[in-house]
Amino acid sequence: MNDNQRGDDRVLPFQIDALDVRGRIVRLGPVVDTILSRHDYPDAVSRLLAEMIVVATLLGNSVKFDGSFTVQTKSDGPLSLMVSDFATPGALRGYAQFEPEAVAALGLTPSLAALVGKGYLAMTIDQGPDTERYQGIVALDGADLAACAETYFRDSEQIPTLVRLAARRAWPGGPWLAGGLMIQHLPHGSAGPRIDAAGHLPDEADDDHWANARAKAASVTADELVGPGLRAEELVWRLFHEDGIRVYSQLELAVGCRCSREHIASVLTRFSPEDRADMAVDGRIVVTCEFCNAGFAFDPATVEP
Ligand SMILES: [Zn+2]
Repeated sequence: MNDNQRGDDRVLPFQIDALDVRGRIVRLGPVVDTILSRHDYPDAVSRLLAEMIVVATLLGNSVKFDGSFTVQTKSDGPLSLMVSDFATPGALRGYAQFEPEAVAALGLTPSLAALVGKGYLAMTIDQGPDTERYQGIVALDGADLAACAETYFRDSEQIPTLVRLAARRAWPGGPWLAGGLMIQHLPHGSAGPRIDAAGHLPDEADDDHWANARAKAASVTADELVGPGLRAEELVWRLFHEDGIRVYSQLELAVGCRCSREHIASVLTRFSPEDRADMAVDGRIVVTCEFCNAGFAFDPATVEP
């Protein structure tokens, strides 16, 4: 199977007009494997970070903005921090901070609660300097990340949402694969209230539509999200072919980091020469990007970009 026969590293947006639903399917292959391979995380951490990267992609691609959409967890468990971000048009990156021994003690497939403990999941949209940052927060107390994302949309945005996530290695020790599906119930909006063919009142019809869409989307399996041989278009067809599907053009995703030597140099110049001398090891200040692990070395006296 060649690299992209699975249709990896893409987002497929779709809409089901008959059910007032819009959605997205994300499938990640080489992109998520590259991001995780730059670190040497235990599989339990890699799996959850891969799901975070899928969440950032699903959510980031569903709002209109120019900049970065960041999803971050902060909590008191062995896995205390995860950051993943989606920068327009489709650049992904992510990293995690954890206590290796405490994570190892949890075994191969710890629950979300055991890994992260108590804390929150925050979503931030940053459109650059001189713009207002948007931030949303939800407690990290769902059964999994998908449940936390659903809670956020239900409580903060009042949008009924279903999210399913999956991440695993293609085979033991093999490359990482990740995938996700999100559907959201659209308000009737401009179409106005209407009575459906069965004579239901709008609210009732609305509930029926959403219950129907939910049931279909919830039937998706981890194999369908990350397994071989099923492209995103085939999956959306399998789930919703009875309802009439509109698909939009797919977005291609790539690994992308925004770290730069110039930016790090500008930060270092804000320290006094004495502080910079203290930071140096063997005569050089070395700064490593937490996202991509790239190292940048500077002369502490000049900090030349
Ligand atoms: Zn970087």
